[in-house]
Amino acid sequence: MEYDVVVIGGGPGGYVAAIKASQLGLKTACVEFDEDESGKQKLGGTCLNVGCIPSKSLLDSSYKFQQISESFEEHGISVTKPKYDLSTMMDRKNGIVKKLTSGVSQLLKHNKVDAFHGKGKLISSTEVEITDTKGKKTSVTAKNIVLATGSRPINIPSVPWNGTTIVGSAGALEFSETPKKLAIIGAGVIGLELGSVWSRLGSEVEIFEAEKTLLPMLDADMSKAIEREFRSQNLDIKLGCMVQGSKKSRKGVSLEVEIDGKLETKEYDKVIVAVGRRPFTENLLAEGCGLETDEKGFIDVDEFCKTKLDNVYAIGDIVRGPMLAHKAMEEGVMAAERIANKKMEVNYDLVPSVIYTHPEIAWVGKTEKQLKEEGVEYKKGSFPFAASGRALASGDSVGSVKVVADKDTDQVLGVQVFGNGASEILQQGLIGMEFSASSEDFGLTMFSHPTVSEALHEAALAVNKQAIHIGN
Ligand code: FAD
Ligand code: NAD
Repeated sequence: MEYDVVVIGGGPGGYVAAIKASQLGLKTACVEFDEDESGKQKLGGTCLNVGCIPSKSLLDSSYKFQQISESFEEHGISVTKPKYDLSTMMDRKNGIVKKLTSGVSQLLKHNKVDAFHGKGKLISSTEVEITDTKGKKTSVTAKNIVLATGSRPINIPSVPWNGTTIVGSAGALEFSETPKKLAIIGAGVIGLELGSVWSRLGSEVEIFEAEKTLLPMLDADMSKAIEREFRSQNLDIKLGCMVQGSKKSRKGVSLEVEIDGKLETKEYDKVIVAVGRRPFTENLLAEGCGLETDEKGFIDVDEFCKTKLDNVYAIGDIVRGPMLAHKAMEEGVMAAERIANKKMEVNYDLVPSVIYTHPEIAWVGKTEKQLKEEGVEYKKGSFPFAASGRALASGDSVGSVKVVADKDTDQVLGVQVFGNGASEILQQGLIGMEFSASSEDFGLTMFSHPTVSEALHEAALAVNKQAIHIGN
C-alpha cells in the first residue's frame, strides 16, 4: 500500500498531524500499538490515556471534595462531613478517557485516515514496517513519514518502580486506596499536580526535590509565593535533597533520604517517582534507515520539525522543546502543512506552560531572570489577586499577575500568573503577545468587571506606573 503520509504514533502530535494531512488532501495512515484490555486499539497517547486528561479529572474531583470539606463555611454554607468514594472517582476519570480516546478513533475515520494497529518502525525514508500484536509484519510505503512516538517516565536506580508500592505517574492515577503516607520524588509539574490530588484526598504527602529552589524556571518572587502557599496546603516540600535508596518494608517502602546533609530513613505506603520523562524511541529506527537518536533518545530536527531526511519529520516529546501536548499538536499541524508545501511555523518563543494545581501556575515568554541574563532592559508590573474584587468575592485571592515589557518599546515580553484561573488569564496575555502588544495596548483594552482577568489589565498598567487599584 502506498501513502502520501504515514504517521507513527497516535498521541496528540501524531493524530493531529494525520488529521491535518488528510484534510490537506493527502492519503494518510496513522500507526499506534496501544490497546485496551479487550485488545482494541487506543489512540490519544500519553495525553488522553495517562496524562493531561486523567490527571485533570482527578484534580477537579479532589478539588471539589476539598472545597466542600474546607471552604464552604466562610460562605455561610454548612454541610455534614463529606465523604468520597475513590472507585466512583476513578470510574468517572476512566469514562472520560474512554469517551475521548474513542472520539479520536472516530475523528480519524471521519477524516479518512487509515488506522493501523501495531508497532511502527522506520526502515527507510519511504518505508514503515508495522508489527501487529501477534507479531505479524507488514510494510507500507510512504512519500512522507512523521515520527510521533512520545515519551516515557524516567526510572531512577535508587528507587526503581515495582508497579505496586513504587510507581510512575500512570500508576499514581490508578491507586485503589488513598495512601496514608505518600512520598513523591520530584517537585516538578507531575509532583505538584499529583501531590495536590492525593493530599486533598487525605494522604500525608512529602515531596523530595533535588533542586534548592522550587520551580526554578520562574522568577524568585513567584516561586517563593508558590512555595509558601503549597506548604500551607500540607504539601511538605523538601528542597535540595536526594533519595539515596529504597527498600521493601512491612508498611510499604522505606526510603533513605539525604536531608540537609543527614541521612534519614522514612516509611511510606506508596512512592511516586516523577523526575521527568525521556523520549520513547527504542526500536523505532531500523539500522541503516538514515536517522539516529542522540544519547538521550531525542531525534534531531530543524525549526520546522524536519529531520535530516528530507521527507521525514519528527514531532512532540521525541524532539527538542517542552514536553507538552499543545506543543506536540502545533508541531503536528506544522509537519502536515510543510509536507503539503505550505508555510506554517510554530512560534517557539510563546509556548505556554500551566501547572493545574490550586491556585494554578502559568507562564509564557521571558521571565525577569532571563531578561537580566540576556542583558535586555525591561520594566515590570504586578497586581495581587488580594486587590481584585472578583477574587475576593469568590474567596480565592492568593497570588498575583506579573508582566515584563521591553524598557524602550513597551512590548510585553513575558507574563507569569499564580492564582485561580491562571491558565485562562495567561491565554489572554499570550494572544496579545502573538500580536506584539505593548503593555499600553493591554492597558487600553477594556476588561469586563468584575473578572479575575482584570488583574492582567492592572499588572500591564502597573508596568508604566498607571495602575488604578494599587499604589504605583
Ligand atoms: P504521546 O502522547 O506519548 O503519544 C505517542 C504515542 O505513540 C503513544 O500512544 C504510543 O503508544 C505510540 N507509539 C510509541 N511508539 C510507537 C511505535 N513504534 N509504533 C506505534 N505507536 C507508537 N501536557 C500538557 O500540555 N498539559 C497537561 O496538562 C499535561 N499533563 C500531563 C500529565 C501527566 C501525568 C503526564 C505524564 C503528561 C502530561 N502532559 C501534559 C504531557 C503530554 O501528555 C505530552 O507532552 C504529550 O502527550 C506528547 O504528545 P506526543 O504525541 O508527542 O506523544
Ligand atoms: P519535571 O521536569 O516537570 O519535574 C521533575 C522534577 O524532578 C524537577 O524539579 C527535577 O529537579 C526533579 N528531580 C530530577 N531528578 C531528581 C532526583 N533524583 N531526586 C529528586 N528530584 C529530582 O518532570 P515531571 O513532573 O516528571 O513531568 C514530566 C513532563 O510531563 C514534563 O516535561 C511536563 O512538561 C509534562 N507534564 C506537563 C503537565 C502540564 O502541562 N500541566 C503536567 C504533567 C506533566
